[in-house]
Amino acid sequence: MSAPRRVLLLGATGSIGASTLEVMAQLERERGCRFDVIGLAGGSRAEPLAAAAHATGARAVALADTGSPGLPALRASIARIASAADHPIEVLAGDEGIGVLVSRLRPGDLLVNAVVGAAGLRATLMAVRAGVDVALANKESLVAGGALVLPAAAASGARIIPIDSEHAAVHQCLAGARRSDVRRIILTASGGALRDWDHDRAWHATPAEALRHPTWAMGPKVTIDSATMMNKALEIIEAHWLFSLAPQDISAIMHPQSLVHGIVEFGDGSMIAQLGPADMRIPIRQALVGDAAGPALGRLDLESIGALEFRAIDDRRFPAIRLARRVLALGGTAGAIFNAANEAAVALFLGGGIPLGRIVELVAEAIERIPAGPLTDESDIRAADAAARRFIAAEAAADPPGCAAAATCAVPERRPRP
Ligand code: NAD
Ligand code: MG
Repeated sequence: MSAPRRVLLLGATGSIGASTLEVMAQLERERGCRFDVIGLAGGSRAEPLAAAAHATGARAVALADTGSPGLPALRASIARIASAADHPIEVLAGDEGIGVLVSRLRPGDLLVNAVVGAAGLRATLMAVRAGVDVALANKESLVAGGALVLPAAAASGARIIPIDSEHAAVHQCLAGARRSDVRRIILTASGGALRDWDHDRAWHATPAEALRHPTWAMGPKVTIDSATMMNKALEIIEAHWLFSLAPQDISAIMHPQSLVHGIVEFGDGSMIAQLGPADMRIPIRQALVGDAAGPALGRLDLESIGALEFRAIDDRRFPAIRLARRVLALGGTAGAIFNAANEAAVALFLGGGIPLGRIVELVAEAIERIPAGPLTDESDIRAADAAARRFIAAEAAADPPGCAAAATCAVPERRPRP
């Protein structure tokens, strides 16, 4: 019997993290797979992290947040669990603590990066530099730092296996294909919670409304990104790096049913589309074991589905796609600026500080007004990220008072009209 696969899971307390834990347990139960969880990390919530450590037999846990009540609560919970377990469980803290866990990985191990936001970049880079495969949900790693991550992976031989459903679908479609035959890829977009709302109503959607995703249950940031179509913009950039494709060879299309996840078009006009239930456990499992063997995680009943619906993404209603192409044309640190501006704007929206419609506007302003520089190392990304966050805070603070709550905001002359 082969040795268990050593796995480090970052973002263990989130939506992808929870699904990953479920998939690992299922693989152990139903397929006899064995995982040695060398560590689990989360952002700030102690209880789900401690529970996951208990369930997996993890040897170490790390919490990004070093403050109270998270870290003391984690230490107390882990002390209780460790006394019942037959091995000690180490508790680490902060980005440093997470870095210590990543530094323990070696070739043959797997990092599952399910962190949300640019905070996930450091681990991705550390792992690929050490020749460690990364199952990547954290698309922001590639949006901000693809220009560092991909060359580092090529140099070390580390693989980046996409978990993002569209990219996992394309990855599956490409199995056995000659790269020179590929003409373009098509990423599908559900359209998010507000896809059928008109422009003005969507501009003022509340966080509760924008968080009501029609087909996927996900963490808050990616759900808002879906409502603004920023998610697809980020994914176009992610695909550019993952598949070494020119921007014009990556398309996006609206597909409200979320059944077709990705499509590859070949030179002769033939296409391979990947269909499946809208269930993130499928791409996660493929990333963990590298196959699509059963048991099934759900089945599509094509007879009852009847027809598949596709439509163009309206560029005026969803200008985010255009921004992605602008970012790719600018190059350098533009991806880091774009990503950080979006993270900061989404956080402001979720906190009630700006209307939904301001997110894409503010990000567009950031990429035009903050000069993108060359990207040679992580310090370039950190500087660009910080500049974008400062810019968004200052611009949002300059918005008219009450703008976020008002039925008609006084900024509309600056917003793109449909
Ligand atoms: P989530 O908000 O549910 O979970 C995020 C996780 O990251 C949590 O465990 C949180 O504690 C952790 N985290 C936050 N800040 C951190 C920090 N500074 N350091 C370390 N950990 C930190 O998000 P999610 O929906 O699971 O998404 C995770 C990633 O996967 C995102 O990049 C998202 O775009 C991508 N993704 C998610 C889905 C989905 O179905 N949820 C689908 C495709 C891609
Ligand atoms: Mg996706």
